[in-house]
Amino acid sequence: MQILLKYFLLIEPDRQRLSRFVLYAVEALGGNLFSATLSLDKCMTALYQAVHASEETVEAVLSLEGDQLSMQVADASFPISRISQTPSAEKLLEISTRLKQESELAAPEVLRQRNARISEDLERAKAKAAREMQQLEAELERRRLELVQAQSVAEHDSLTGLYNHGFYDQRLEEAVARCKRQSEALCLLMLDVDKFKEINDTHGHIFGDEYLKRVANSMLQACRHEVDFCCRLGGDEFAIIIFSDAKQSERVAKNILTSMDMKVSIGIAQLLPDDSIKTFCERCDHALYEAKEKGRGQYAVSNIRAVVKTRTS
Ligand code: GH3
Ligand code: MG
Repeated sequence: MQILLKYFLLIEPDRQRLSRFVLYAVEALGGNLFSATLSLDKCMTALYQAVHASEETVEAVLSLEGDQLSMQVADASFPISRISQTPSAEKLLEISTRLKQESELAAPEVLRQRNARISEDLERAKAKAAREMQQLEAELERRRLELVQAQSVAEHDSLTGLYNHGFYDQRLEEAVARCKRQSEALCLLMLDVDKFKEINDTHGHIFGDEYLKRVANSMLQACRHEVDFCCRLGGDEFAIIIFSDAKQSERVAKNILTSMDMKVSIGIAQLLPDDSIKTFCERCDHALYEAKEKGRGQYAVSNIRAVVKTRTS
């Protein structure tokens, strides 16, 4: 058996190129080109399946045995053409040399094209992945901001920008639990605008709103930013959760009262070890009532000793 060509196939253009080589051999050996084309068809179908099923190269061997030119693909042999005249050894050498040269010439080009295509595909896939990643990150950031915004809206009073009642309830509960556990000082300051109905009636509701905003600003100015919580409980009622003792809270109250041209009344209570949230708020509310009773525009501190005395008596 005379082997004319060993050809390794990797991608689709290899198959077409191999067909050309085989038909050249058929013609050079004086075979019938028409019937060879038909025979080659079956062989190429087998090759197509083999190339597509494998990641590796597929070997095809073109050989001449007697007067039969055949192609072997994997374990199968496909007759291609019969040769009418036995070719001379020189002729066979010439054909196989030419086929070898052409197939070797073709191989680097095929590989180069294949590599270039794979690189292009990779670059495209990388660029696409980077774009998608960017879009995902932007979307994530947008959602995060939306969440932060929604959370902020849910926690704040829309008129004054202070924390709202829901936030106050939650933080007060946490603060009472924490300060009791750690034996830290905690105060509650409740504030109510004096004669606010009259202000509204005299100057109108819009003026009243501005008035409430000014009260809120005075509260923010008077206490520690990002430590204490300034809240609007509703209407003209406000509260501050102060993480300090009654003395510091009195300073806050004085600052509020002196910083404003309007009048407000303030009640202060410091958390006691056996206070519940209810008794803590009640004492503070009572102090506010006292400030109002005493003539408004002032603060009153819940009388701790009096309360303790009442409880033990
Ligand atoms: P006091 O000194 O006893 O507190 O008298 P007051 O007139 O302030 O009485 P009160 O605190 O009960 O009145 C609250 C008033 O606040 C009643 C209501 O019309 C007004 N109000 C409640 N919410 C708002 C608001 O968002 N804007 C304005 N402009 N007024 C409000
Ligand atoms: Mg009031």
